[in-house]
Amino acid sequence: MIRRLLVLSCVLLTSGMMFAQQVPSLDAVQAQREVEHFLTDLVRIDTQDPPGNESKVAHYLQGVLQREGIPSEIVEPVPGRGSLIARLKGDGSKRPILLMAHEDVVPVDRSHWTVDAFSAIVRNGALYGRGSLDDKAMLASNLEVFLQLKRLKIPLSRDVIFLAEASEETDSPAGMKVIVDRYWDKFDCEFALNEGGSSLIENGRVKYMAVSTAEKLPRWFSLVATGSSGHASIPRVDNAVVHLASAVARIGTWETPARLNETTREFFQRLATISPPEEAAWYRNVLDPKVQAILRVQQPQYYSMLRTSVVPTMLKAGFKTNVIPPTAQAEVDLRALPDEDLVKFREEMTKIINDPQIKIVPYDNTYSMPAAPPSGIHTAMFLALEKAQKEVAPGATTLPIMTTGATDSAFLRAKGVQAYGISVPHTEAESRTVHGNDEHVEVKQLGVFVRYIYAAVTDVAAK
Ligand SMILES: [Zn+2]
Repeated sequence: MIRRLLVLSCVLLTSGMMFAQQVPSLDAVQAQREVEHFLTDLVRIDTQDPPGNESKVAHYLQGVLQREGIPSEIVEPVPGRGSLIARLKGDGSKRPILLMAHEDVVPVDRSHWTVDAFSAIVRNGALYGRGSLDDKAMLASNLEVFLQLKRLKIPLSRDVIFLAEASEETDSPAGMKVIVDRYWDKFDCEFALNEGGSSLIENGRVKYMAVSTAEKLPRWFSLVATGSSGHASIPRVDNAVVHLASAVARIGTWETPARLNETTREFFQRLATISPPEEAAWYRNVLDPKVQAILRVQQPQYYSMLRTSVVPTMLKAGFKTNVIPPTAQAEVDLRALPDEDLVKFREEMTKIINDPQIKIVPYDNTYSMPAAPPSGIHTAMFLALEKAQKEVAPGATTLPIMTTGATDSAFLRAKGVQAYGISVPHTEAESRTVHGNDEHVEVKQLGVFVRYIYAAVTDVAAK
């Protein structure tokens, strides 16, 4: 028996070694140099959205792919707002994997930048520019991995599809909703890697790489109060401003019910293992009301991961101090847990508001994210990402997370795709430059990110 086990483990070892030999490792120096070059070019193409002008990026990518002998297609549901799709063929024994990233960036307030936001200048080892993190770092890294798979002639068991999408930062008919509706057959897949993860570098070391498997669903609405108008010298009990203020206060302070799902349960368990003792104790008991009260103040992002949140953000009422207006309106950002029953939730909210003068008016969701189930944390893709993290950032931890913000992965998950959000390793301070000022990425981490994606993709797609 012992002998047989020994023989078996020898066979496994040998085949493992043979497998390792089949997938050539990247020339890390060359890959980093090239991804930096791609990112520099991409940042210099201004795709502030609105208006986007993403076709400029799509044509740039098409040129790069063409030089490597890879055909691609640009789809342009709105003129000037193109998305690019390309494919490396596998033997078809497994379903495809999609590498996606968006081409557009949020606008820049140049007066707050210390460098030109579209110059891609490198300062102290970091590349500066709008999109250098969100999301052109991923776009450049996906491109680099895609090219390497072709150049190194990696035999594939599944197609690897590259998608550069338009209009992620604003909802429009050029964005993911329409791309999925019209062109799904061009990138139908089993797995996808997209933005949406996070990571943390602390004291020069990667502490964790968070892979997002789920996200909260934005379902914004207005609260509209109506009452009688009149001269403000005469108080009225149905004053719309007063009724709205009361409704806003009620829902804004409402402690919505907390619960865990597969991802957040695992997230808090793993987070406890890398946190100082006091915090670790919170994360092991996140549903304890006393812990909730602490998180609400000290870790609002974790508080939000446990519940559907309701956050009033805008108020509109009146035009003159001595006139009682007939209506008053508030805008509210609701973010639902993936399994929330929104009909029931709205009934609950109506009870909390408890005022017939207040109407809840949902926004038009034509182009917004669909409700979607979380992706699994035991799939081949998730396991490959964990393995890749151990390779490129040994000593760090992979955390599955549910993001409180939304990404276009929702459209994929709604199609049954196991979609994962990842991110180039960055510091806390760097993460605040996303959608902010002086956005930048460490060039060295771009190299790490390329090796990470390459390791994970070859793990699930190489023969
Ligand atoms: Zn983004």
